[in-house]
Amino acid sequence: MAGVRRLVLDWDGTVTEVDTLHLVLERFGDPGLFRRTEGQLGHTLGLHEVIAVEFASVRAPLAEVVEWLLEHVRIRPGFRELAERWRPLVLSSGFRELIEPVLAREGVELELLANELDPSPEGWRVRFRDEAVCATCGEACKRGSLLEDPVTYVGDGYSDRCAALAADRVFATGALARYLDGLGVPFEPFSDLHDVARGLERPAR
Ligand SMILES: [Mg+2]
Ligand SMILES: [Zn+2]
Repeated sequence: MAGVRRLVLDWDGTVTEVDTLHLVLERFGDPGLFRRTEGQLGHTLGLHEVIAVEFASVRAPLAEVVEWLLEHVRIRPGFRELAERWRPLVLSSGFRELIEPVLAREGVELELLANELDPSPEGWRVRFRDEAVCATCGEACKRGSLLEDPVTYVGDGYSDRCAALAADRVFATGALARYLDGLGVPFEPFSDLHDVARGLERPAR
């Protein structure tokens, strides 16, 4: 396995087709607050502030949310095959309590780094895994969790920006792909995880 890079996957919008935090907020949170705070992300609010404010509007029992999520969340094709072949690390700004049941449904066991929840009936509180502020982007970002070198990073969104810039090879879709395009940073596009698996069999461009 010499020369093989550690594969790191974002979860929401990367493994899942739709961001499950957005699904949960639209169904169980305050959708108006959600839309307002998303507009402030990266401007007046950092990612952790946005997540904390948005999830304080969720008061449903965790078991009810998990049951609903398991009925509605869809995983991009190729996830299980990618997981078995490359044993990726899942590095998420979402919550262990909402990710582990989906992994179990899919029959996949992987190393997971994610935030945790205190699902209080007065409003969910977030326990952030890592609040160290990154010297590069000024937020508590994912870059500091890329301990192994070299890394291939797979992502779709805002939370992946700084880590993607630190990775040796990047597969991107959605807003992350547009962001990297805007910076002129090379990446490989994907629409499902079979694309990523096929790409990993080729040398990096
Ligand atoms: Mg994402
Ligand atoms: Zn950073």
